[in-house]
Amino acid sequence: MKILVVVTCLVASMAATGQTNYDTVRIHPVKITEQIYMLKGAGGNVGVLIGKEGTLLIDNQFAPLSNKINGAVKTLDPGEIRFAINTHLHGDHSGGNENLKKMGATLVAHNNVRERMMKETTNRAGSKVPPRNADAWPMVTFADRLNFHLNDEDVVLHYMDRGHTDGDVIVQFVKANVVHTGDAFVRYGYPYIDLGSGGSVNGFVATLDKVLVLVNDNTRIIPGHGELATKADVKKVRDMVADVRDQVAAALKKGKKPEEIPGLGITNKYDAEYGKGFVKGKDFVMVVLESLQMK
Ligand SMILES: [Zn+2]
Repeated sequence: MKILVVVTCLVASMAATGQTNYDTVRIHPVKITEQIYMLKGAGGNVGVLIGKEGTLLIDNQFAPLSNKINGAVKTLDPGEIRFAINTHLHGDHSGGNENLKKMGATLVAHNNVRERMMKETTNRAGSKVPPRNADAWPMVTFADRLNFHLNDEDVVLHYMDRGHTDGDVIVQFVKANVVHTGDAFVRYGYPYIDLGSGGSVNGFVATLDKVLVLVNDNTRIIPGHGELATKADVKKVRDMVADVRDQVAAALKKGKKPEEIPGLGITNKYDAEYGKGFVKGKDFVMVVLESLQMK
């Protein structure tokens, strides 16, 4: 599983260093409604709900960007950041947790995000990853669903079960018809499925099926990474992942050896569109294969 290790190392090092000079990163707000914005910078997309009752933030990129993100949020609304939600545990979405807690925000995530942040883990390259600092641990956690009623908006956090990780939450702004998917849906190419953090390819497809039920053709979708999207964009990625999964499963069923499967060209027809990100077609097939074998 050499290729897989390379992917995992790449992701681990991206998470650790960000490979980014944070001084040059600019935080760029994209207006979605009068009170909902997406912030782009480095790392996962940030969702922002502003209003008289305070600000709610979804994801927060990397720790060195906290002041810039706070500054960008304050230009939208001077109110305090009261709630900071993590869509999942990865450091490019939750790296600012400690800083936000210091600013007075209440950190909110799924039960499994807190569990994983509290423990030393072993990443898939075999190195030990220490627990996150206690100030990064979510203070409010939940199992299936959590509702916020704030700024004349109903915000619903839906737990998605195993997908990108085992702590994925989709955030739905019910009245505005806006959804933040975290990394359950991304636009950088083949998705990364973090098997070491409880992710699974079957869960990934099931999660996107649940997203498709939650949204309609008018829903504005904030992906974990990339530009604003629509239901049709989610459907396309869902169908691609399901197709690759089904072809890998069919090859296994036909008696192909696991080491032969990445060479079968299963992703050839998708590589031009999805292979430009950090997960290449063969790497994606390896992860899908390993996920199916873990069942
Ligand atoms: Zn992630």
